[in-house]
Amino acid sequence: MREAVHYGLHFGLPILVAFGWYPRKSWLVLGILLAGLLIDLDHLLADPVFDPGRCSIGYHPLHSYFAIAVYVALLLFRKTRLLGLGLMIHIAADSADCLLLAMEAQGG
Ligand SMILES: [Zn+2]
Repeated sequence: MREAVHYGLHFGLPILVAFGWYPRKSWLVLGILLAGLLIDLDHLLADPVFDPGRCSIGYHPLHSYFAIAVYVALLLFRKTRLLGLGLMIHIAADSADCLLLAMEAQGG
């Protein structure tokens, strides 16, 4: 269930945004938005690399609050806006994940 939400947001949101907001250049936009997934490469620095019970927000260097502030800044400039948007979608997806994780931990 949590995995479905996670990947639904990770891949579904970029597809929705690309095809809903940018009908003329959907594929280009989709490519840029999916580039936001690349920040998950920072998981490779962690030990263990993949831990389903771990919240990545605030844990991995590219998911830190400082990094998130940088992504928000990218939204302010036209040239980097799409990249920033892709990164924010990624952070949103990961945040939803953490939220569900917390709920599960409470037995809900
Ligand atoms: Zn992530």
